[in-house]
Amino acid sequence: MIKDIRAREILNSRGDPTIEVELETNKGIFKTSVPSGASVGKNEAVEIKTSKAIDNINNIIAKKLKGFNEKKQKKIDRFLIKLDGTSNKSNLGANAILAVSISVCRAGAFARKKPLYEYIKKISGNWVRIRTMPKPCFNVINGGVHAGNKLDIQEFMIIPQGETFKSNLKKGARIYHDLKEVISKKYGRQSTNLGDEGGFSPRINDGLEVLELLRKIIRKKNIKIGLDVAASQFKKDKYDIKFYQNIVKKYPIAFIEDPFGEEDWSSFKKITTKLGKKIAIVGDDLLTTNINRMRLAYIKKACNGVIIKPNQIGTVTETLQAVKLAKLYKWKIIVSHRSGETLDSFIADLAVGVSADYIKSGAPARGERLAKYNRLLKIESELN
Ligand code: PEP
Ligand code: MG
Repeated sequence: MIKDIRAREILNSRGDPTIEVELETNKGIFKTSVPSGASVGKNEAVEIKTSKAIDNINNIIAKKLKGFNEKKQKKIDRFLIKLDGTSNKSNLGANAILAVSISVCRAGAFARKKPLYEYIKKISGNWVRIRTMPKPCFNVINGGVHAGNKLDIQEFMIIPQGETFKSNLKKGARIYHDLKEVISKKYGRQSTNLGDEGGFSPRINDGLEVLELLRKIIRKKNIKIGLDVAASQFKKDKYDIKFYQNIVKKYPIAFIEDPFGEEDWSSFKKITTKLGKKIAIVGDDLLTTNINRMRLAYIKKACNGVIIKPNQIGTVTETLQAVKLAKLYKWKIIVSHRSGETLDSFIADLAVGVSADYIKSGAPARGERLAKYNRLLKIESELN
């Protein structure tokens, strides 16, 4: 039974305020902190000012949730959505609601005596058949709004294709170090400065030059490449379908996220028609973990992959609904962090609980990124 909820301010990895929640039940105290994006989709649930979100938790949500059974995730999430009363959670704040919703999930797992990933699997329903570890997508080169360089593509990810998470993490770290050396020699030490997600932010202006660099370094190593173009950040489209077709021909690309702006349904449809058999065209800003946008995308055949970010939608229940729909559509599923992160590792358990294909949590460096990868290491060893 929920006895109390207390929220306080902490700083995220960019030094901006965010929320930490402690939810107390008769069995213990369950802590959650929430992240924050920089390239935010315009259809995301609304993150409100931290101080206001904290007030809302301490003075409204805490009082209303007292006495609820922590094992009733759906009921509590539904109650929070209703209490907020808006379609985008702008009243209580998606940041406030999510911090509470995840704490409820942790408390529920503890009450059921299950590890968090196992409990997530249980409350997702029976539709998750086998449990697999997600493949990590290491964002080794940062551009766009995550770095101070002139690269317009936001994320260049390497995706080792080994059998185990442990071996993939090791491989990712080795490449990360090799890359540092190569960049340092070729572009100077300033170019090994890090962007928001722990990848290098070299003085390179051209994305093709980065792809060449990566191609050389991953050659013959069974590693794929993922890109987040984050094209909604562009004033107008910079890359056309021809460009994408060419790079898919030349490089071992597994997926391209947000190749076009978030409302450019027709270009998304065209690229999915052309490249969807070969790679995943992934919607992040396009879909914002929102089942209404996902349904629209399915009807329009606009993509065949989805980024799952709990804070884009604001509750655990709605996040799991989005995953369920993506599975029904047979889309690739990528559970994702945000560029402004905390040490909270909920998304690691989420990725295993729903058997996501991939997880992106930045480079294999910096504490807030490693919190997720290291949690996955532990989960894998538990499962074995
Ligand atoms: C992304 O765009 O996929 C991302 C993680 O960045 P942000 O958190 O800034 O939206
Ligand atoms: Mg993105």
